[in-house]
Amino acid sequence: MGLSGTVRALAVRSTGVARQLVEIHGALPTAGAVLARVATAGLLLGGTIKGREQVGIELRADGPLGGLYAVADARGAVRATIDNPYIDLPAREDGRFDIATALGKGQLIVTKSLGLKDSYRGVVPLEASTIAEDLCHYFYVSEQKPAAMALSELIDGEAGVRAAGGYLVQAFPGADEADLAGIERAISRIPPLSQLLADGVGPEDVLRLLIPDLTVLESYAVQHKCTCSAERFEHILVSLGAEELRSLADEQVTTELRCHFCNQVYHFSRRAVRELARRAAAAD
Ligand SMILES: [Zn+2]
Repeated sequence: MGLSGTVRALAVRSTGVARQLVEIHGALPTAGAVLARVATAGLLLGGTIKGREQVGIELRADGPLGGLYAVADARGAVRATIDNPYIDLPAREDGRFDIATALGKGQLIVTKSLGLKDSYRGVVPLEASTIAEDLCHYFYVSEQKPAAMALSELIDGEAGVRAAGGYLVQAFPGADEADLAGIERAISRIPPLSQLLADGVGPEDVLRLLIPDLTVLESYAVQHKCTCSAERFEHILVSLGAEELRSLADEQVTTELRCHFCNQVYHFSRRAVRELARRAAAAD
């Protein structure tokens, strides 16, 4: 992450994160590309928030992929869930993933939250469906910040995720016009991000191609990390109410709950569910 005057620039190499997400969800290449992009975008937006805040990016669309949701924190952790990971479409004429068809029409929603409550929510229509362009549109419309963003991934059916990454450059009020023009020129001249990723160019060097006199303020590792736990699922069960839990315990020997983000399965025995029913009854 770097800052040059009133321009903020962030870049991330998210290969490991994308690989893990594709593996967890069993995503086929086209779906995997969208997962990689949204998770990478989440990590970049995570670099723009602070403290215990979380940022969510949700795609709600009518295409075969269904919905997709990624949540990132300010410390480089991201998790993501996808409705239908088993989508693989023929490549477009230019060889790129046909993400627009996979997604269909819909909305891109950005949320910022502390705890359970959203403190902020911005919505833009999914138009370009490259995710990066849609997010730039979001920055312009919702945050009044001109931005340039690239999200890229190299995925093939055989080798899986070979590379993933992205960058985000945001201009703040008072940014020097000449500086911004220089960054725009650099963006149009540098090799495509997928090429840079394939050549093993690191995130800091990607930013230096855009902003040669960059000052690096912060640099940290990113990871896939889920926040689920047995306790969290206990809370969800208790919220169903005593009656519902008692009938659940009568019907099933073991109650299984699966985390949509990381696919971890949590088992609750009949006895444990009855105990939660008692807890729910006491809370009423
Ligand atoms: Zn989980």
